[in-house]
Amino acid sequence: MKSIMFIAPPAAGKGTQADLVIEKYNIPHISTGDILRDISKEDSELGSYVLETLSSGGLVKDEITYQLIENRLKKDDCKKGFVIDGFPRTLDQAIEYGKILERLNYSIGEVFLIDIDKDVLEKRVTGRRICENCKAIYNINSEDSKPQIESTCDECGGRLYQRNDDNVEAFNNRYELYEKKTEPIIKYYEEKGVLYHIDGNKSIDEVFKQIDDIISGVGK
Ligand SMILES: [Zn+2]
Repeated sequence: MKSIMFIAPPAAGKGTQADLVIEKYNIPHISTGDILRDISKEDSELGSYVLETLSSGGLVKDEITYQLIENRLKKDDCKKGFVIDGFPRTLDQAIEYGKILERLNYSIGEVFLIDIDKDVLEKRVTGRRICENCKAIYNINSEDSKPQIESTCDECGGRLYQRNDDNVEAFNNRYELYEKKTEPIIKYYEEKGVLYHIDGNKSIDEVFKQIDDIISGVGK
């Protein structure tokens, strides 16, 4: 069956949309981060290599990542489709991923690119506040999700704080890195005719409707 993939800048709501797809279609979420973390707990040569690499902040060798992903996608729960997350991150990986899918007789399915205005993202990131106590997330730049009392959690009365990297400068860095890294991957999938632009400036439900229409074939 087919692979579903999301490409989106930081804070564009990629995780939320992936969750909605997973829930509606009852398909697994294949996260390369999770696969690596799981294998790192195994008592094997491969497990210790992955554990050492991850804990030293390094990158696991591509060949190993490919093998692990292929093994995971072979499992029965992937046969009716899946959402792949955290991979591919480079053009080389995208090309190799195509070969893996071919070997398994899966199709690339859809690659959703969530288009969203940079200033919308900046407002989301810089307005984000988190409850120290219950971890509830608010946004002081949005009427719908700002707390009723300033700096105080609606749920539990805890104090709200701002993450260190939720500032304009860190956001700009993350955004630039995203553009640079994903540009070749976007082009690659565009040329293959599997890239779908989604207007991410809309509400969560409206964004999901665009995605759902394409997956179900209505909007193609
Ligand atoms: Zn709270």
